[in-house]
Amino acid sequence: MLTTIEAIGRIAAEMPRFDAVAVPLDHARRRVLRQRVTAERDQPPFDRVMMDGIALAHRAFAGGQRSFRVEGSQHAGDPRQTLLESDACIEVMTGAALPAGTDCVIPVERLAHANGFVEIEAGYEADLGQNIHPQGSDHKAGMEVLGPGIVISPMDIAIIASCGLDRVEVGRQPSVHIISTGNELVPPGQPIEPQQIRMSNGPALLAMLEGQGYTGCEHDHLVDDEALLNDRIAAHLDAADVLVLSGGVSMGKADYVPTVLAGLGVRTIFHKISQRPGKPMWFGIGPAGQAVFALPGNPVSTLVCCRHYVLPALYLASGRPPRAPEHAILAEPVTFRPALTCFLPVRLATAADGRLRARPVPTNTSGDFTSLGGTDGYVELALEQSEFPAGSAVPLHRWDAP
Ligand code: AMP
Ligand code: MG
Repeated sequence: MLTTIEAIGRIAAEMPRFDAVAVPLDHARRRVLRQRVTAERDQPPFDRVMMDGIALAHRAFAGGQRSFRVEGSQHAGDPRQTLLESDACIEVMTGAALPAGTDCVIPVERLAHANGFVEIEAGYEADLGQNIHPQGSDHKAGMEVLGPGIVISPMDIAIIASCGLDRVEVGRQPSVHIISTGNELVPPGQPIEPQQIRMSNGPALLAMLEGQGYTGCEHDHLVDDEALLNDRIAAHLDAADVLVLSGGVSMGKADYVPTVLAGLGVRTIFHKISQRPGKPMWFGIGPAGQAVFALPGNPVSTLVCCRHYVLPALYLASGRPPRAPEHAILAEPVTFRPALTCFLPVRLATAADGRLRARPVPTNTSGDFTSLGGTDGYVELALEQSEFPAGSAVPLHRWDAP
């Protein structure tokens, strides 16, 4: 049986890679950047005034002069003026270009205006260059400010816009189809019999994908009927880049999914990973290169496997390299004897010592998903070990940061 690391490696080796497409900036958030973004101009593009006040020649101030005639006014966006008389000043506003011939800005709070003159507060000391943001001091024109492979944040949107780009190349949005299976399952909002179960994996998987920017995914629920599964999965394979199935991959008599997928020409890459929850997970590649993830139906297994395997694989295919896990300190000792990697849901808290602590939230079974409410992610407890003392540092996987 594959280890979790081996499974990630197999998926990475087989995943398709989505093309790059140009999208308008207001559609770029959460998408993976696929181009270099270089500075259009120096930043700031001119010596920029940082305070409302007056600009003057520091030499005059240093020589003892405290009263200055106001030659004019320079607002943000105005063409740059020139100070004509070196013992005068120009009124300036934050964001304006610094007038030529000046090299010091004195804030308005230190000034008294009267009859076209300003008087500087007694005892005020002004330095050469003060309140001026020099041209190119943040970065120079042509410098790479963002590189491919990042997930675009609102801050990145600001940077891209500042480079003058209204469109940007990102990984193409794949079409992802979610297929939940099971005779016993009834969607929310429909009448239910005592022996039936609410279908929750479909909405949960959609939400997990949408949370990472993989929007517009489709969801179909299918009963455990081999012929029906065959027809419907064939149609989904034709229409999608990625299929995420839930349920029907274990050893039960109605677990048709691996057989149906094989019959449709989906090549098995692996079946089963040495982990709990989620051991029966299956992964394969369809005839046209579609990635097919078949997750065990237990809700905890489905959510952990989607977070641990599906989301990072989608990011990889979109052009983002894998992320190293964070680590946290176990707040309580844990014993886990099976020779499997244990994914244990946790709540996080940072104590006064500044260290991130993970408090285990045990689930009774891999179906006990009400316990998952309020958890921040899960820790990964190594297969080779069975005792994990309180205070051990363990890999942490947050639900929302795959
Ligand atoms: P399976 O992997 O099909 O054997 O399902 C394992 C368990 O998970 C069964 O108890 C199912 O009822 C439950 N289950 C499977 N799919 C879902 C789903 N979509 N929503 C909620 N529970 C499910
Ligand atoms: Mg089932």
